[in-house]
Amino acid sequence: MPGILCEHCTAICCRYIALPIDTPQDRGDFDDVRWYLMHEGVSIFVEDGEWYISFNATCRHLQPDQRCGVYETRPRICRQYSTSECDYHSGDYGWEQHFTCPEHLDEYLRAHPPRTARRSRRAGRGRPRLKVRAPRRARSSGFSTAPADIRRVPLPVLGAWS
Ligand code: SF4
Ligand code: SF4
Repeated sequence: MPGILCEHCTAICCRYIALPIDTPQDRGDFDDVRWYLMHEGVSIFVEDGEWYISFNATCRHLQPDQRCGVYETRPRICRQYSTSECDYHSGDYGWEQHFTCPEHLDEYLRAHPPRTARRSRRAGRGRPRLKVRAPRRARSSGFSTAPADIRRVPLPVLGAWS
């Protein structure tokens, strides 16, 4: 492809946030995941056995011409991104699972019934909170400059939300 790859892209990598979450273990955990999926623009995917939550959210610094409006001061996670295996290549992200709505999760649970919730842990709890760790943006392979705690994770293909 002639020129810079990003010039042919609609800045897919600037339109989401993906964070690893604890692997759901029991019915209560999966019910929390089901609640996440009730929200518009939220999806869950599993890659290499690790669970992630993804928010469809465009960076407020993305300009109408698909360029970064704060390029010189863009965050570390953006600086460490490269086109070598970025979201532009999309296609097969290699996810083991991808849930975009509660019904997808229900279907998965019918085939993989979770164990019963741990009553003592759940008793009296309020709304579930995300148990997130370091942010991640795309898959790690091919990104040797990224520190171990900021692996890149792939995004859902744009348009999958509708
Ligand atoms: S790094 Fe990849 S996904 Fe991001 S704007 Fe460039 S080509 Fe698009
Ligand atoms: S700061 Fe710039 S490169 Fe980073 S997500 Fe926002 S628009 Fe994209």
